Amino acid sequence: MDNERMKKVPVREQDPKLRAHNFEEVCLGYNKEEAVKEASRCLHCKKPMCVSKCPVSIDIPEFIEHIKNEEFEEAAKVIAKSSALPAVCGRVCPQESQCEGKCVLGIKGEAVSIGKLERFVADFSRENNVDLSEKQPSNGKKVAVIGSGPSGLTCAGDLAKLGYDVTIFEALHEAGGVLVYGIPEFRLPKETVVKHEVENVKKLGVKIETNVIIGRTVTIDELVNEEGFDAVFIGSGAGLPKFMGIPGENLNGVFSANEFLTRNNLMKAFKEDYDTPIKAGKKVAVVGGGNVAMDAARTALRLGAEVHIVYRRSESELPARAEEVHHAKEEGIIFDLLTNPVEIIGDENGWVKGMKCVKMELGEPDASGRRRPVEIAGSEFVMEVDTVIMSLGTSPNPLISSTTKGLEINKRKCIVAQEETGLTSREGVYAGGDAVTGAATVILAMGAGKKAANAIHQYLSE
Ligand SMILES: Cc1cc2nc3c(=O)[nH]c(=O)nc-3n(C[C@H](O)[C@H](O)[C@H](O)COP(=O)(O)OP(=O)(O)OC[C@H]3O[C@@H](n4cnc5c(N)ncnc54)[C@H](O)[C@@H]3O)c2cc1C
Repeated sequence: MDNERMKKVPVREQDPKLRAHNFEEVCLGYNKEEAVKEASRCLHCKKPMCVSKCPVSIDIPEFIEHIKNEEFEEAAKVIAKSSALPAVCGRVCPQESQCEGKCVLGIKGEAVSIGKLERFVADFSRENNVDLSEKQPSNGKKVAVIGSGPSGLTCAGDLAKLGYDVTIFEALHEAGGVLVYGIPEFRLPKETVVKHEVENVKKLGVKIETNVIIGRTVTIDELVNEEGFDAVFIGSGAGLPKFMGIPGENLNGVFSANEFLTRNNLMKAFKEDYDTPIKAGKKVAVVGGGNVAMDAARTALRLGAEVHIVYRRSESELPARAEEVHHAKEEGIIFDLLTNPVEIIGDENGWVKGMKCVKMELGEPDASGRRRPVEIAGSEFVMEVDTVIMSLGTSPNPLISSTTKGLEINKRKCIVAQEETGLTSREGVYAGGDAVTGAATVILAMGAGKKAANAIHQYLSE
């Protein structure tokens, strides 16, 4: 095979020195020529393994073939059959462990850039107003969807296409879930990309009622018994942050990553014409090593701080995507690895002035298969910081489970639901996404929304 075919067409990115000071998108995506060239690398395997690894089963070879032939509108229509959020997925999906991870070209060379091609097609259809709103006539049945994240939007969109009257109830003032409040602007633009894909779901006929907290404003039992909904899908995510339980976590200047990111992304603290308060400080410690930690760190950097990632294991155990770690390093984030906080120290006014840490070394593997970090005796030291952002994972908020009769949850506070259908312990009530799995990924949440939509359709067609 010729060398050209073995390597991806490189994607253009904003210069790290420039982007460390702005919130503009880091990745600039492919233009037409680049997309056609990259699409021409696809081998069109008889048994495309890439499709088997896509949780929403996009016909990847078919849409890539259309790009190769410069039929971009057709390509968008192929993707729209399976996914309501292609511009989102093309930007944030961990393709390396899904579709691209199975690409045959990846065995000896580099996989086809399926994600970047998906993004190109989605951006093309947005910029050219391609209408993707095909649907069936109304069947008169009502479905309530709780939460407007990727699982809720997918479930709602698929049901609306089948003719259901779907209403999404969203606690926040804007629809999109983590796509609007969590993932930063520089990875996923809100006004152009997310809003447009939410609007596409609305064009299918889905109604979205914001500022409605299910469990407070109205309960699931009331939706079913009093408001005439025939089925319910719960896609309420896992938005409750975890803390370490160390002294000093209540000091001013300690944030959960979710709060810090929400203030920036949803409440636009980074924009001068918004008065959302935020304190990024001069020197920020972000505790944790996942994707959310990278997002919080890169956001704090853009607000002008020196930023340290504090993680108790070594670089090879960092749970964040390699691409995110690479981008963070390029931008100047400092990684303090094998380091664990034991106390946050405050000044006389109750503000953070430092963080006491210990150094760690790796011992035997633990239940997760990763080597367990063990404290090195006598290694305590104080890191001078004025802001600490805790990024240690999240769990589902118990509000819905505690206000819905007969809804079973497990030890991790996740809703118990059947894997293939999303059916919960309550008849007619389905669930999916992070509310069921705990914090996971956009595409897995979409896959769960899709399965539940099929199951709800079967249930209501019986
Ligand atoms: C900072 C951050 C970065 C991430 N980066 C990536 C990434 O790059 N790639 C990736 O694949 N995944 C990423 N993820 C994970 C991904 O975003 C989630 O797995 C995904 O959004 C889960 O979708 P969901 O629909 O289950 O829930 P969510 O997106 O969490 O949406 C749930 C929605 O339900 C609403 N809700 C909750 N309770 C109620 C209630 N009682 N009543 C009404 N509405 C309610 C919430 O307000 C929210 O809007 C990231 C997550 C975070 C936090």
